[in-house]
Amino acid sequence: MILKLYNSTTSQKEDFKSISPNIVSMYCCGPTVYDAPHLGNFRTFVFYDLVKRVLIQNGFEVNQVINITDIDDKIIDKVNSGAIGYKELTAKFNDMFLQHSLSLNIQEANQYPKTSDHVEAMIGFIKALIDKEYAYNVDGNIFFDTEKYSKYGKFVNIENIDRLESEDDGLGKKNQKDFALWKTWKEEDGDITWESEWGKGRPAWHTECAVLATQSLGKTIDIHCGGVDLKFPHHENESAQVEALLDSVFSNYWLHSEHLILEEEKMSKSLGNILNIGDLLNQYSAETIRLFLLSSHYRSKIYFSDEKLSDSSKMIDKINRFVKSVGLDTLDHNGDTNPSGDYLRFVESLNDDLNTPEALGIFFDFINKKNKKIHEDSLSEEDIEESKKFILGFNSIFQIIHPSVLIDEEVPEEVQKLAFIREEMRDKKNWEEADRLREEIEKMGWLIEDSESSQKLVRKK
Ligand code: AMP
Ligand code: ZN
Repeated sequence: MILKLYNSTTSQKEDFKSISPNIVSMYCCGPTVYDAPHLGNFRTFVFYDLVKRVLIQNGFEVNQVINITDIDDKIIDKVNSGAIGYKELTAKFNDMFLQHSLSLNIQEANQYPKTSDHVEAMIGFIKALIDKEYAYNVDGNIFFDTEKYSKYGKFVNIENIDRLESEDDGLGKKNQKDFALWKTWKEEDGDITWESEWGKGRPAWHTECAVLATQSLGKTIDIHCGGVDLKFPHHENESAQVEALLDSVFSNYWLHSEHLILEEEKMSKSLGNILNIGDLLNQYSAETIRLFLLSSHYRSKIYFSDEKLSDSSKMIDKINRFVKSVGLDTLDHNGDTNPSGDYLRFVESLNDDLNTPEALGIFFDFINKKNKKIHEDSLSEEDIEESKKFILGFNSIFQIIHPSVLIDEEVPEEVQKLAFIREEMRDKKNWEEADRLREEIEKMGWLIEDSESSQKLVRKK
């Protein structure tokens, strides 16, 4: 089956072909860890997860890297405000990002490289650009020389753009199009600085991703993803550096997700119109938020409203009722190489540039058809098998069925025994032994959900 993806460099849907036959390398621009992530950020992070899951559905193994930007002006500003130290700040929001990713059923990436762990490699990369005369030094600030690179303008028509990089103005660059690779130390930077042969300073954002991507995935990668705001200048500038230095195509496909909009504006920390994802997770289930984010096509803007979230919640209820009525008892999906009927149409929609709204529509029409049979008491064994297969395939992408919805599977005696002892250990406040038993039970394929007064065993996904 052909997978089509919209490539921002050609502005067209293209047949996807990976460099290696079965493995896809994928670099995703991750969070800047200076504040709590908002729902807009997670629109983009859930989109990364969608791309990955659809690739897996197509039989690929995915080698995914999501970087952690922990050197940045905003981080320095916050440390300078005095409330929190550098390490503490970046560790806090790095952990928060990973925790919320887990809550939203985002599959773990293979690597999460942090900028601050790779500054040496960035210095080497900048030096190589200087040696090849693609970069120049003005008072310890190093800039990329766009005049030397004839292909500048992959994503935009540079002559017509009025929003050329202004963030490095005042640092001495020769040309408005040029951008910083390295910023020399200023008093405000305090201890957040590294030694280089050009003096103290720090790498700039576009160089950080260029180095982390090539270092972890090689000089040409299959897919590079980000939110649409990163197309220019961030991705333009990442790409210019890598392609100039390594004389290679940096990424074969560039995928960008549109913004999440709140009150007519892009949700952003600088505009102050943000919905913190942690707060939302206290209000709505992770499944509801995930379904809301996936119910619009990734290349369309998505408008936040409480009504839409409560619609998503109702949709989840409907799916859960259906899951129960066909008696699904596992969420294990072993990959289906031979989908047919409505399930096949669902897969085809996703393969058509990740058309999640169409795929959802097909799934709900299917549920309606089967529900009608349930009401007429004419649901056959075949219908049940077909439904189970489709639900599992659906959930391998959307990930919105919570294991607690499954019909109760009988818990093996051995697991029950261990759970009983664990309960006793908890009563005796022997937390160490209780944790050890929890791990043992988990190894046997069961998870314990604790509430204040009891524990419940659920099958591990
Ligand atoms: P940041 O933490 O600001 O570096 O952003 C991390 C990711 O979130 C980037 O890929 C951004 O493009 C994306 N992003 C930021 N704001 C929004 C938004 N309102 N809607 C969708 N994606 C966003
Ligand atoms: Zn990046």
